[in-house]
Amino acid sequence: MKLGQLEFHVLVDGHLGLDGGAMFGVIPKPMWEKKIPADASNRITLAMNCLLVRAGGKTILVETGAGDKWDAKRRDIFALDGPHLTKRLLDYGVYPQDIDIVINTHLHFDHCGGNTRVEKDKVISAFPHARYVVQRGEFEHARRPNERDTASYFPDNYVPIQTANKLSLLEADRAIAPGVELIRVPGHTENMQCVKLSGGGKTAFFFADLVPTQAHLNLPWIMGYDLYPMTTLENKKKWIPEAVKEGWLAIFAHDAKNPAAYLRDRDGALEAEPTKVD
Ligand SMILES: [Zn+2]
Repeated sequence: MKLGQLEFHVLVDGHLGLDGGAMFGVIPKPMWEKKIPADASNRITLAMNCLLVRAGGKTILVETGAGDKWDAKRRDIFALDGPHLTKRLLDYGVYPQDIDIVINTHLHFDHCGGNTRVEKDKVISAFPHARYVVQRGEFEHARRPNERDTASYFPDNYVPIQTANKLSLLEADRAIAPGVELIRVPGHTENMQCVKLSGGGKTAFFFADLVPTQAHLNLPWIMGYDLYPMTTLENKKKWIPEAVKEGWLAIFAHDAKNPAAYLRDRDGALEAEPTKVD
């Protein structure tokens, strides 16, 4: 898809299964299972959607999926399939060494697991020429997670990047290439960032885990994983109407069916119009 000079594609790294109850917080199962059915272990299938962006002569990757540093037991717990990111990049003629910038919206394993890979027992950067961009507060939290979210943070996904001096830590919102803006949006974590892509008068907004699937467009449908659910609610009330008003294309980090949709207001009700982005 093109936005003026900027070009982007949605790449699916793979899928994972997370507990449906945890994904929908306070929403009762009879309501959420109509939108996304659960398996025998109560897991729902989520995609790990990444973006390949070409802007201002830079090749940029947003998110890197879960990666391949997994043992069989944990692959099974999360029903992981993938990683397919390298193959999907090749579909567009992009090799790992071609990536200039990697953006992680936050450092949970399903967003940055492909940052690194193992070579001869050493964990190294999977994109050897890339700078990795994350909010400083997110990185600091990832170095010292709390008892509740420590299971989401795997140091091998980001510490080797810092050690290799390839990490750029942001203190605030920042444009990192023409038409590519990173916007700090707390709620899911304190320092998650969303990605706004614009060009030619058009905008696409990567909602990261603020609105992980289309089902989460409903305001109270907020993940149990969120550290600050009331802040998520505030930010949903800010960014969803903005996307409606401005006609932005919304991109959902975990929607396995429709990763992208235009959002419209139909007589006061929010309507998502899925759109194919390849
Ligand atoms: Zn997350």
